[in-house]
Amino acid sequence: MFDLIIVGAGPAGIAAAYEAKKSGLDYLVIEKGLIGNTIYSYPVGLTVFSTTNELEFEPSGLKPAREKPTREELLSYYVRFVLDNELNIQTEELVESVTRDSPPYEGGVAATSSLDGADGVVLSRGKQNISDTNTDTENHPPATAESTRGFMTREPVPLVLAQKSASVARTSQPRNEGSFRVVTDKDTYKAKNILFAIGAMDYPRKLDVPGEDLPHVFDHFRETYPWVKKKALIVGGGNSAGEAALFLAQEGCETTLAIFRDDWENTDPKQGCIKYWVKEPLEEELKEHCLNLFFLGKVIEIREGEIELENENGDRVVLHNDVVFVLIGSDADLSMLKGLGVETEQGKYGEVPVYDPETFETNVPGVYVAGHFTNQRHIKGAIDGGRSAIKAIMDKNLAKQAAPPQSS
Ligand SMILES: Cc1cc2nc3c(=O)[nH]c(=O)nc-3n(C[C@H](O)[C@H](O)[C@H](O)COP(=O)(O)OP(=O)(O)OC[C@H]3O[C@@H](n4cnc5c(N)ncnc54)[C@H](O)[C@@H]3O)c2cc1C
Repeated sequence: MFDLIIVGAGPAGIAAAYEAKKSGLDYLVIEKGLIGNTIYSYPVGLTVFSTTNELEFEPSGLKPAREKPTREELLSYYVRFVLDNELNIQTEELVESVTRDSPPYEGGVAATSSLDGADGVVLSRGKQNISDTNTDTENHPPATAESTRGFMTREPVPLVLAQKSASVARTSQPRNEGSFRVVTDKDTYKAKNILFAIGAMDYPRKLDVPGEDLPHVFDHFRETYPWVKKKALIVGGGNSAGEAALFLAQEGCETTLAIFRDDWENTDPKQGCIKYWVKEPLEEELKEHCLNLFFLGKVIEIREGEIELENENGDRVVLHNDVVFVLIGSDADLSMLKGLGVETEQGKYGEVPVYDPETFETNVPGVYVAGHFTNQRHIKGAIDGGRSAIKAIMDKNLAKQAAPPQSS
């Protein structure tokens, strides 16, 4: 039985794991990809837009060669941090479902529960289809055989809990006090609290046009070299699209950025404009005729070797091209949260879970959220959210321990 399972090892999950370890919680992080998987997926050689103090878990750990770190420097820092602090992170393990085994325990006393009688809902992972170009965010079945791993009372008992709550009914109901069952593609675990730190990269947004599934159409830009001396079209209005267009134009690709005029003319960072240090060099590339700008009305169809577009005046145009990058943002998979009963609402960038902005706990006791799929869209906010959730869990533990034992 873990005190806490953290789903996702991005900045939010790593920050939470570090705090959990320092607090003496018995925790586990489960990550479907690699440590810092989203950062790993950034374009090769990208310089991030945040300053080091916004990206670090502890001051002065990140030492980039220039003012701001590259993708590689940031990734190396995060991986090193996890290894040096011996954080308990299991990678390449997908969390498939989280269900509630029993009502959350109150006042330090657990509700009795039976695994066979779990009341949670196991959800299959549904696919969304959202077409929205104005984003810049960077922007199962349950396992049938349950292993004993994660179900046994684990040692050592968390230090803080053990020291401060000798009288709490841990020994009287050790096996039933947990509230959540976490099923992965490798194992099954139990935990008292769950922190979702899953980011918002699960569902790249789609244009919903014919040809979008062709092999030369990508929802993700990785690097320029395969496209040198080729014709590339980028669809999108945010920083990711701007960065991809810039990389490609600078490296000798015949590049067209198809963008709504409003997005191109947007200069408000709060409205997700292309950052000025991307926009200015893009304008230079335009002047030097290394980049074409296409003011988009809509994309009509993508075909082998060409794409049909409508411009802002409604005129149809066919452009010949070798590769299309559709970089219009992505959305989180909220299905596990919703299955647990977590309420959601419409946030600035899409649907977000409802949570207490101080504790990051949702309406379902014991279920916490942090990071990019909340209202915190940047790494600093993700780190702060992860930390806040751990503080809240610790505060709750202390409050439970201070509460008088419930009479049976
Ligand atoms: C190209 C690009 C550049 C960016 N530059 C910046 C920048 O300069 N500064 C900045 O502040 N932000 C930047 N961002 C945004 C930044 O990457 C996010 O804000 C940050 O990654 C959020 O951290 P997170 O921990 O919330 O989510 P993520 O980093 O996305 O981590 C979530 C993790 O959860 C894992 N996961 C998801 N579902 C499951 C599951 N079911 N089971 C197990 N694991 C799961 C994912 O694999 C992932 O590793 C950029 C984004 C992009 C795309």
